[in-house]
Amino acid sequence: AVRGTNTATPPDTLPKLRARLLANENPLGIAPSAKEALVKAADIGNRYAWMEFAQLKQLIAADEGVSPKNIMMSPGSSDILMAAATHFAKGGGTILTSAMTYDDLLERAQKQGAKIVAVPMTKEYTYDLAAIKARITPDVKLVYIVNPNNPTGTVVPAADLEAFCREVAPKVPVFLDEAYIDFYEPADRPKLGKLVAEGQNVILARTFSKIHGFAGLRLGYAIAKPELLMAMKPYTNGEFAVSITTLMAGIASYQDKDWQNHCRAENAKARAFTTKALTDMGYDVIPSAANFILFPIRMKTKAFENQMFANGIGIQTRDFSGQPYCRVSVGTMDEMAMFMDGFKKVVG
Ligand code: PLP
Repeated sequence: AVRGTNTATPPDTLPKLRARLLANENPLGIAPSAKEALVKAADIGNRYAWMEFAQLKQLIAADEGVSPKNIMMSPGSSDILMAAATHFAKGGGTILTSAMTYDDLLERAQKQGAKIVAVPMTKEYTYDLAAIKARITPDVKLVYIVNPNNPTGTVVPAADLEAFCREVAPKVPVFLDEAYIDFYEPADRPKLGKLVAEGQNVILARTFSKIHGFAGLRLGYAIAKPELLMAMKPYTNGEFAVSITTLMAGIASYQDKDWQNHCRAENAKARAFTTKALTDMGYDVIPSAANFILFPIRMKTKAFENQMFANGIGIQTRDFSGQPYCRVSVGTMDEMAMFMDGFKKVVG
């Protein structure tokens, strides 16, 4: 397979873990300001959330340089990914992407009858934008790019991504999955809302599951021109699948820059600690800009994963072209120390 095989889909009931480092969740929880907003929202749980949708869309639109009409809210970004897969793959055709990337949209598109073309990554484990561009044919219905990428944690420079979109989007819609964009330092982030404002065929997918810690609360959104949002909408669960509690917490968290900065800084610290500890043991860690780390391991995936779980450490494993890899989410410093202890025990 060009894409990896995921051998570690979390089971319905997870064993009791000391460190849950398998789903790129925020180990620090939700912002105290978001918790306060959740409690307040309980008092208006009997009301439909019209005002709150408008308020959050306005905040996002102002930051992104788009209109609220360019935003569609969703219970997590998965809903947007699945809707895009169904819409763009419904007549067959090809979805063009990179090897070693996030599979959910691709698997759904394949089920709808689309063919997936996954272009090899560069030697640095980054998206090879030039090679992807060279593979565009009239059969390609969508280009899917994950940046920062999961599971490699790598990024493409903002300027390269913008140039790529300007060249490709007039021919084929480009879907940018930016689930991990909040882990970029704000000044370095690609700011591609402007392409949407210009009317380009670009869809940005965002989630509150990562830096905001809303994986369980469920909140995400798409930014695109209204025609594209309308085309995907019939395949979503609809905006009202988002509860007023989640929305009000989302509004608080979105404005809580201090909490986001705190989470980003803590993540960077724990990521640097783990990268160094693994590198010191002779492992080739792929430099990550996100809240997880991928590195090649010297054991078979299933055996490694089982032994890590037996030690109370939840991680994920992947095989890419026969090479086993471990993907470990960045937890707290304590959790990363536990991970390193467990890892040393397991690899001997
Ligand atoms: N996109 C990427 C790249 C992800 O890694 C994830 C989740 O891990 C998602 C989208 C979907 O997350 P959610 O539905 O929680 O927003």
